[in-house]
Amino acid sequence: MALATETEIVDSIPRGLLIGGEWVQTSGTLAVEDPSTGELLAEVADATEQDALAALDAAVAAQPSWGEHPPRERGEILRRAYEEIVARQDELALLMTLEMGKPLAESRAEVTYAAEFLRWFSEEAVRIEGRYANAPNGASRLLVMKQPVGPCLLITPWNFPLAMGTRKIGPAIAAGCTMVVKPAKQTPLSMLALADVLARAGLPDGVLNLVTSSSASRVMGPLIGDRRARKLSFTGSTEVGRRLVVQSAQQLLRVSMELGGNAPFVVFEDADVEEAVEGALLAKMRNGGEACTAANRFYVHERLLDAFAQRLSQRMAQLRVGRGTEPGVEVGPLIDSVERDKVGALVQDAIDRGASVLTGAEPLDGPGWFYRPTVLADVADDARVLHEEIFGPVAPLRSFSDEDEVIAAANATEYGLVAYLYTNDLRRAVRVGERLETGMLGVNQGIVSNAAAPFGGVKHSGFGREGGREGIEEYLETKYMAIAFNLQAD
Ligand code: NAP
Repeated sequence: MALATETEIVDSIPRGLLIGGEWVQTSGTLAVEDPSTGELLAEVADATEQDALAALDAAVAAQPSWGEHPPRERGEILRRAYEEIVARQDELALLMTLEMGKPLAESRAEVTYAAEFLRWFSEEAVRIEGRYANAPNGASRLLVMKQPVGPCLLITPWNFPLAMGTRKIGPAIAAGCTMVVKPAKQTPLSMLALADVLARAGLPDGVLNLVTSSSASRVMGPLIGDRRARKLSFTGSTEVGRRLVVQSAQQLLRVSMELGGNAPFVVFEDADVEEAVEGALLAKMRNGGEACTAANRFYVHERLLDAFAQRLSQRMAQLRVGRGTEPGVEVGPLIDSVERDKVGALVQDAIDRGASVLTGAEPLDGPGWFYRPTVLADVADDARVLHEEIFGPVAPLRSFSDEDEVIAAANATEYGLVAYLYTNDLRRAVRVGERLETGMLGVNQGIVSNAAAPFGGVKHSGFGREGGREGIEEYLETKYMAIAFNLQAD
């Protein structure tokens, strides 16, 4: 089958709101831009507060029957959706590249990663278990069961437009929850395509409702305050997450928060420099640095610093920057001018405080929001780039001389999502790993994401886990029945 053109794939995606199984048009529209050109890509529906409430009405109405739907059938819907996504990997990747900017190879990898959550949770749907126990005094039996939480509100960011959706939608469907999904305003098209795939895979009307909007607070505020919603799962910035936790306290919603990161990447003196640089490139440059898991600060042992800095700068300078649809491009644009200017300001602040530029440190001319891959050395302790989430292709380097010192530096942040260690000493890896304040740790590898693993953070990186066996628990309530049994024979 011939690959769809850019226009064909964009035109094939439904543009309405999905409410109760109907694609609903709105009078207003939301413009979606191609970040590599700054040009209009598509216009999608712009929901009002009433539309959002209608979406919640539909989720609430569908909840009782969906909660009782056979788990095997819930799993099979996910499995069919998984298969369609895998079969359409190239066109979904193209759509993602057009709205988000990442190179096609990375979009393909995200499509696979996103689909894996549907496959994983298709298998988990039939493994929701409780237990049966004897009460300690023997007088009764304890029956513990798991039930769906109820209608969920799912809010996702723009940086992984498909995977951040399937990581929530997969377990919610598997657990028997209905939902209202709101994607980021920059990248609604991938989520619209996913909703369409799930509908065709047999998901009953009203289970997944989708609202796109130019104002997240306008549409989600009333839903978070609505007593019929039972859960909020949010992936996005710590700043917005903090506000949503406060809002959700009114209705005591169950809350999962996947927030920002400030990952340390630590290279010990016994590490292999070549391997560490390749890992650093993955940890830093996956998604052009626009990842919550992106290595944000590099701590390299003083004996390896020069070799590591030289090799990393060389590799970063060689990366080909350009429109993600072009062959051979390895780094796409940043999502918009605001993000590009923020990255530029962080680099300038580091330079003002004495950092030296080993490569990059400037935007590219022309349309689109491109910034050159950058390596900074001698970065001062108080430089903002070490304390704030960069969300761009910038690697600040620091040296260290001993283990306690680097653990203290790595932990000196409000965030705690992920950390990376390079060492050939297994005992050191475990010793240091146990002392790092983080939800995830990559040991001699620059990527930790895996549908079978519990993804999530500690401290201001949030709470709750997505993926793995833990992921479905976020969508289940525990109910216990005390059963008074008289087991004596009559
Ligand atoms: P963001 O600005 O916090 O937005 C995330 C989502 O929240 C978007 O859908 C946004 O809608 C919505 N939103 C914003 N304000 C809201 C409000 N008042 N009420 C309800 N919803 C609201 O984050 P982003 O810039 O899209 O994403 C980047 C951030 O996500 C980074 O900090 C990154 O680290 C984090 N992230 C974390 C993980 C993780 O798993 N820990 C994964 C990926 C990304 P609009 O788009 O309409 O504003």
